[in-house]
Order: sequence, then C-alpha cells, then structure tokens
Amino acid sequence: MHQPPIGHLHAADPDLAALVEAEARRQFAKARLIASENYVSPAVLEATGSVLTNKYSEGYPGRRYYEGQQNVDPIETLAAQRARDLFGVEHANVQPYSGSPANLAVYLAFARPGDTVLGMSLPMGGHLTHGWSVSATGRWFNPVRYGVRAEDGRIDMDEVRDLARRERPKIIWCGGTAVPRTIDFPAFAEIAREVGAVLAADISHIAGLIAGGAHPSPVGHADVITTTTHKTLRGPRGAMIMSTAEHASAVDKAVFPGLQGGPHNHTTAAIAVALKEAAAPDFAGYARQVVANAAALAAALAERGFDLVSGGTDNHLILIDLTGKGVPGKPAAQALDRAGIELNHNTVPFDPRKPFDPSGLRLGTAAVTTRGLTAEHMPRLAEWIDRAVQAAAKQDEAALDRIAAEVAELMAAFPMPGWAPAP
Ligand SMILES: *Cc1c(COP(=O)(O)O)cnc(C)c1O
Repeated sequence: MHQPPIGHLHAADPDLAALVEAEARRQFAKARLIASENYVSPAVLEATGSVLTNKYSEGYPGRRYYEGQQNVDPIETLAAQRARDLFGVEHANVQPYSGSPANLAVYLAFARPGDTVLGMSLPMGGHLTHGWSVSATGRWFNPVRYGVRAEDGRIDMDEVRDLARRERPKIIWCGGTAVPRTIDFPAFAEIAREVGAVLAADISHIAGLIAGGAHPSPVGHADVITTTTHKTLRGPRGAMIMSTAEHASAVDKAVFPGLQGGPHNHTTAAIAVALKEAAAPDFAGYARQVVANAAALAAALAERGFDLVSGGTDNHLILIDLTGKGVPGKPAAQALDRAGIELNHNTVPFDPRKPFDPSGLRLGTAAVTTRGLTAEHMPRLAEWIDRAVQAAAKQDEAALDRIAAEVAELMAAFPMPGWAPAP
C-alpha cells in the first residue's frame, strides 16, 4: 500500500494508479543501485503531493507578483534557512526546478554567451551542463574540458591548472556524475582564484554525504554551490543554489526572472522537510553507512576480479570497467535489471566504445542504505552482480531469473519508505 494512500487516484484513474503501484512494487523488490536515486520519506511524499501545488508565487518571500503568499512565504523562508544552517552558507536559493536549470542559472549569473568555461568532460565523469557539446552550455559558451589521469583514474589537477592558466575561463566547474573519489575543493579554489574565475561546485551527487559529514564541504572554497535535492540528500526532485552573500543577488536574479517563472511550492516544502531530516542526528549515520557500504561493495567486487575505475571509491559511487569481463555495459546492465539489480551503463574514462553502449557500469549505495542494508550485505550484492554478468555473457536468462528471486527475498526483509506490500 502506498504511503500516503492513493485511494482517490485508484478511484479516478485506475489505469494510472495501477502503474504507480507497479512501480512501487518494482522499487520494493529490486536492489536499486542507480547512483543518483534514493527513497524519500513518506513526509517528503506528503509535502510533494500537497495543495501547495495549486499556488503561484513568482518572486521571492516578501517580494511576490501574486497575492495570497501568507503561507508560501514562510515555507520558502524556512527551506532557505534550513539550507543555510545545514550547509553553513550565507545564501541559499531553493527555487531551481532541477539540477540542470540550477546550473544554467550559474551561467546566466556569471558569464555571457561565448565566454570560456572549464568543466569536467562528460565521458570522464562530468555532467552535460558543465559544457558538453550537445548541451546549451556547450553550444552557447566556449567549453574547455579536463579529465582524469589514465594511470589512476583521478582528476588531473595539473591539467586543470594548465587549462585554467591558458584559457582564462569565467567559470570553473567541479563535481560530476561519475566521480568515485573525493573532490579536492581547496585545490580547485586555488586555481580559480589565480585565474580570476568563479568556482562552481556541483555537489548534486554528494550533497547528502556533505550534509552528513561523510565528504568534505566546498563551503569556504567555492563561490557558488549547486545541488540537486533528490540524490544522496534524499529529498524531492529539485535543486538549490548556495553562495556567499556577495553573489546572492546575482544568483537570485538569474533564477527569477532570468530563467524561471513561479517556483514549485510543493517541491519547496518537500525540500524543507528533507533538509530537516538531513539535520537530524541519524542522517550522519546514514551518510557514513552509504560510504561504508560503497567501500564494502567495491572491495567485494574487486575480490571477484572487477576492474574499478580509480581502484575503488571514497563516496557512494562505484564505476566498473567491464572490458576484461567480455560483456559491454549495456547488455550487462539489462541482464542485471532482469536479475533484480538496477544500475546504469556508463562510459569509463578513455572509453573506446560509444556512449550508448559503453564499457562500464555505474552504481551507488544510497538507496539500498536507506532500505537498511549494511556492509555485511555487500558481498552478496557483489556475488549476484558477478553471477549476473557471467549469465549475461552466456545469455542464460534462467540464471538471471533465479538471481532476481534471491534479490527480492533479501529486499523483502527491508521496509521501503512510501510503500509496503499488502499484509
Ligand atoms: C544529476 C546531476 C545534475 C542534473 O540534475 P537534473 O535534476 O537531472 O537536471 C547536474 N549535475 C550533476 C553533477 C548531477 O549529478
């Protein structure tokens, strides 16, 4: 049963309700290892599904273009205050619709079309919005890209410094979507200061780890910090931009009226709820467990002969290079999905294969940690992944189905926030 209940949806639109229930059952039965996903609490779900979705609020608290903000103003003020307190920043804008629009706002605030921007290359672990060619950010700006070293899979800070000195970017991006190692924010800040660039730290993946004290914070180093709220931070789909007081007005003007209309007040409320949850003492335990689980899973995978980019992980994320296993990333990910283990195919640094069928797999431990799995369960996950990849090579679908049954049996012992099977 869905929590909060969806009885009205069942009555009004049974087809749609059946799909929601099916998705909940899928999320319950699978070991969800997609590094950008999680399970939000029923409280976050309730805020997201509330009547706040009915309200228009263009502007900022106290300066709106619509009447009737008696409740929305305190909600947004509370969300921003909680963001400032949790991350220890001077300013927080909680209105961006998602991570990509938040990053676009940084361009609008600090650069002009045609300006040079320095970001991590997408196939090396960066994000589309850090200047990749198919993104507006790569088409309307002049992108320069850094990567990782071939020897150890770590970000090449010498390359970052050389590129920054030569190209004089307006904005330098750090943070990414497939970076299994700690981001060295002080080193990026030193380079940005030297060349007069704005340092933008995109902590979308690691925000929950930072909030829980399990990854160093960019605060005090980066001029502006963007983050999604729905990955390790475990809030609704949304984003925030945090900055020093100096940049507050530029950031706010870029979000509204620069890029967006009315903020999604139901999301703002849910962000406020998630930030309260992230400030509670048990959240630090969750963040530490996410990292401990990733370390245990990485060790168990390495023991089974999996080649891990950078040799392991410091955070929630593991990147596997499957080249030695004789199965490309896409068929492996599809086989794993059938085996009840949900992850995504991903490029690995210097990948000789094409992005839609790359050599790697990306996985993360945030969602299974929320379900309650601990380090002792990670060798079993590694065993299933190993068996499924071998079954994929042999196209042994019966073996995949056997693994899926074992996975579902384990996961059934761990409650899922937001849904429970009928008793
Ligand atoms: C997920 C992510 C984004 C984009 O977020 P969306 O909400 O999908 O637009 C941006 N940057 C990084 C580093 C991300 O991981």
